[in-house]
Amino acid sequence: MTQHVPQPMPVETPVTINPVVESIKRERDRFVAFAFAAADMLMEIDQHGVILFADGATSGLLGIAPSSLSGQSFHEIIHELDRPVMDNLLQTIAKKQRVDNIPMAFQSKTLGTMLQMSVSAFYYGKLDHHVFLSISSRINSKEHEDLRDRDAKTGTLNKTAFAEQANTKILEAEKRGEKLELTLVDFPELEAILKSLSAEQATKLLKEIGAYLQSKSLDGDLAATLDEKSSFGLLHTPDVTSKEIISTIQTMVSHAAPDHNKISGHSQTIKTAPGVLTKQDSANALLYTLNKYAESHGEGFSIDSIGAGYQSMLDETVTRMSNFRDVVTQEMFDIAYQPIVDIKSGIVHHYECLVRLKDEANHNFSNPYHFINFGETSGLINDFDLLMTQKTIAVLLEAKKQGKRPLVSVNVSGRSLSSVLFMDSMRRLIQAEPSIRKQLILEITESAKIADLKVANAFVQELRRDGTLVCLDDFGSGESSFDYLRSLQVDFIKIDGSYVKESMQNQQGRDMLRAMAGLCRSLNMVTIGEMVEDEKCAVFLWESGVKFGQGYFFGKPNTDESSLELCSKLLPHYPGILRAKRFKNEEIERAWWSRRGD
Ligand code: C2E
Ligand code: CA
Ligand code: CA
Repeated sequence: MTQHVPQPMPVETPVTINPVVESIKRERDRFVAFAFAAADMLMEIDQHGVILFADGATSGLLGIAPSSLSGQSFHEIIHELDRPVMDNLLQTIAKKQRVDNIPMAFQSKTLGTMLQMSVSAFYYGKLDHHVFLSISSRINSKEHEDLRDRDAKTGTLNKTAFAEQANTKILEAEKRGEKLELTLVDFPELEAILKSLSAEQATKLLKEIGAYLQSKSLDGDLAATLDEKSSFGLLHTPDVTSKEIISTIQTMVSHAAPDHNKISGHSQTIKTAPGVLTKQDSANALLYTLNKYAESHGEGFSIDSIGAGYQSMLDETVTRMSNFRDVVTQEMFDIAYQPIVDIKSGIVHHYECLVRLKDEANHNFSNPYHFINFGETSGLINDFDLLMTQKTIAVLLEAKKQGKRPLVSVNVSGRSLSSVLFMDSMRRLIQAEPSIRKQLILEITESAKIADLKVANAFVQELRRDGTLVCLDDFGSGESSFDYLRSLQVDFIKIDGSYVKESMQNQQGRDMLRAMAGLCRSLNMVTIGEMVEDEKCAVFLWESGVKFGQGYFFGKPNTDESSLELCSKLLPHYPGILRAKRFKNEEIERAWWSRRGD
């Protein structure tokens, strides 16, 4: 990268070696070298976007030598779709001084396609208002985080990131005695129009809308996409009006879709004074307000201040808490069983018990995940986990009467394992039934919520001494999963489904999974891979050294108790790896696989 010595711009080349000029040149080279430590390309552009200086891997990345870039418009090397983003950046940079890690697509002649890069810009007023760009193709974790905070289509923030960042800005402005406004806009017909456009046109329109909203928002980066079909929001100073926002977006849409008449648009501007709320409460109330707006599509939406949003949120939480309690006290749920299968032999090892809400409870919580999640955040999960275990024990006792001894796992939230009262109750529940406690596996989910790992581990070891098995769920999904292996000695490790899927994508992922399975084996822990949706995934897990699999390929969760009878038996539609592999003749093998019904 140092082979091209950067030339200071309009500086005459000295004919004789002037030690002062030489030392300035060296100084500049040194700065450029420092800057390269973090970037692949560096550029200096003037206020009109003309490139004055470029250096770095521009030939390799863009197909243009650094010297040929000087004098060109920066606009032209940006991919068409991202030009609005780049215009917005140039318009707002003087105010912001610097922005970091803006994802931007460049037009690459080398690749013949767009090239995703990450751009950081620094505005230097003293140097003729020039803008200095550091452009990098490396995605580091900070940038990943930044990308996760954004809606990929519009480039604006997503709801959660927006609620957090806007809340901070609102509180800061309040301290200075300034007022900000939050405007939410909704265009009910936008979704249909986007569908009628080509994918490229739709992407372009959304990018334009996003860049426009950003340009009108505070600091040029406080706009949000509430749902990518019709609702957006932005935090702004009082001089920006909702009327101009709506009419500009209407014009953009009618330009993109000339056949359509003007689309309709609603807006609501919300007072932002958070009053007496704590920082976290007002951020939550803000998020609640955004969610409600997106859900209502602007119609019948009546919150006019974030404080009112907070009040509604409280009311709703109280109602949901009582609904959650009803589910527990009136047992408004069933248990679904999903098989965990030995991949090599095709034999069912055990079943996982999963909650399924009955219809009368279902409308309050759209799916088990929301129900459990609410229980965890509201602190009511303990009671539910105990009840679920109790119900499962009852099922095992009933099966025993019929001479059957299935093995089952129940989920217990890490949050429950933070309560001494819970652990005492659970211990008593299990100790009371010595005849079936060896058929029970406790599956610890949300282990990050365990308050004291030492206390939780003491409880786990006590259960294991009495014959109950323990499984650590969601392994590989959290940040400190490996730490838990050290703190909690368990029998099974369940590798999170998303991790399994990701691992299949590339060699590094495959190596990591194999290493993980190897580590678990050496710690005497048996591995289970989740979300096995096809044969390929089953084979992949087995080849990586994972022993058991769970997922739709082996069987979906089923509320029929008689499915438990398959425990220790061969799955009817999966013959196990070895038996499948024994079919040397591909024809016969294909015929075998096609026989399995789903
Ligand atoms: P989990 O423990 O990771 O459970 C596995 C989830 O993945 C289940 O979702 C299951 O239906 C789903 N699943 C299984 N195989 C496949 C597959 O091949 N593909 C896909 N896409 N999904 C698959 P479910 O039943 O919606 O449960 C969601 C989560 O709620 C569970 O995740 C668990 O953390 C929690 N949960 C469920 N029942 C209970 C319970 O009784 N107590 C507690 N504390 N948590 C529970
Ligand atoms: Ca689980
Ligand atoms: Ca899991």
